[in-house]
Amino acid sequence: MLFKQVIAQESIKEQLLLSAQAEKVSQAMLFLGAEGCGKLSMALAFAQYLNCENRNEKDSCGQCSSCIKAEKLSHPDIFYTYPTIGPRSMAREDIEQWRNFLKDEAYFSYSDWIALLDNENKQGNITAEECNQIIRQHGLRHFEGKYKIQIIWGAEYLQKEGNRLLKIIEEPPANTIFILIAQSQEAILPTILSRTQILKFQKLKTEDIENALQEKLGLSQEEALKLAQISDGSWIEAKQLLGQADNNYFESLRTWLLLIIQQNARPSLSFAQQLIDWTESMGATGRQNQKTFIQYALFFIREALAAKNGLNCKLNATEKTVALKMVETISWQKMLSISQIINNLHYQIVRNANAKIAFLSTSMKIKALLKQKSVF
Ligand SMILES: [Zn+2]
Repeated sequence: MLFKQVIAQESIKEQLLLSAQAEKVSQAMLFLGAEGCGKLSMALAFAQYLNCENRNEKDSCGQCSSCIKAEKLSHPDIFYTYPTIGPRSMAREDIEQWRNFLKDEAYFSYSDWIALLDNENKQGNITAEECNQIIRQHGLRHFEGKYKIQIIWGAEYLQKEGNRLLKIIEEPPANTIFILIAQSQEAILPTILSRTQILKFQKLKTEDIENALQEKLGLSQEEALKLAQISDGSWIEAKQLLGQADNNYFESLRTWLLLIIQQNARPSLSFAQQLIDWTESMGATGRQNQKTFIQYALFFIREALAAKNGLNCKLNATEKTVALKMVETISWQKMLSISQIINNLHYQIVRNANAKIAFLSTSMKIKALLKQKSVF
């Protein structure tokens, strides 16, 4: 992986490049950030750069024997640990799957990886055996590159086994670098946290995703912008959305909100039935589609409020007309509360709640909110 293949995150790239050039690389780092912001790609690019035989100021050469091995994920000095299935499993048993998985791009989610290893979706873990293996392999002196690098992807899954690694993370052998990768700081043992330099990755900006969709996947500017706006700063999300670019989330949202508003203004059995039908049909679509719909709804409300306040609004003309009508009749406080209710729905959907019930109860919550007398 070359740095130029990693999407955006320029200040982190710069920081890593400078540390390598000054030979002041921290021996234990934690790359922390949300899914899809490029932590693993950055770790792969950095590992390759550290051992490249002909690197320049900005990137690895991509051609020396070290780079070629790094690209194939078969460099003898770059080690990978990731969650695996089973109480005694070890990463090396799944290395072929790992190589295949990373062949095209190093942006994927934990759930994609576990689904590949086991279609019953068992819980992944990093076992005691794996930790012992890490200690063993870094106790061996012989290596061909300048640096030995240990990448631990999904460091949350170390759980208490992380204690086994404290000593080696605190005092790694010379020229050995540990790069831990995680989404959430809370899930990492404090004793590990205190021994690592933390690099916080921000979510990708809309324009970074928009550009990458055009450059890497050849989308038109219009298509790229539409997907980028609802991908929540995640390249993984943006790619998953690709397959659903034809879905008309706007029409779906308009129908849903209209039914709720009508049911609130003039309650009738017919509207109630239509609302139930809508939640049933939304509940019957895939979870990814539901998540995307919710992200679109949140984006729509955010932009509707921007339009109301005369700020730059990213909605197209049709969307904007509906959005402005909506903000004329619903106070901005209530719009914010609706946004929170829908955010909570997202939380339920990603945690595999029953989608039909979740959408119906969300509809009822919004209806109850609209009924309240607003002081504004
Ligand atoms: Zn090279």
